Amino acid sequence: MALEELDPAARYELPDLDDLLGRPRWHADAACRGRGPAGWFAVQGDVDTVTAARVVCASCPARVECLSWALAAGPSLAGVWGGTTVTERAELRRVNVVVGRCWRGARGGRP
Ligand code: SF4
Repeated sequence: MALEELDPAARYELPDLDDLLGRPRWHADAACRGRGPAGWFAVQGDVDTVTAARVVCASCPARVECLSWALAAGPSLAGVWGGTTVTERAELRRVNVVVGRCWRGARGGRP
């Protein structure tokens, strides 16, 4: 049976390729999708390439999910994700730890 012959409701029950490959759902909305990795993995000091990636990321509908994923992925993740560089994500992690300590301390917990 061809896909066109299926009931439209039944089509939605079919897993899509992203599900089968274990990709997060936000990949489908990524503005960088189909652009290739080169623009997001510039050599150190290539400010123009990083800036061009940031321009795309700035209007990406998946930016929040992308950045959240990149922060969770850890410090070894290279490239621009969610409009941030490796160095910027390291700073965000550091600030998050400091704010978390302050927050716990303000609530009477152990800082
Ligand atoms: S925020 Fe940038 S790196 Fe992340 S999915 Fe969007 S375009 Fe790609």
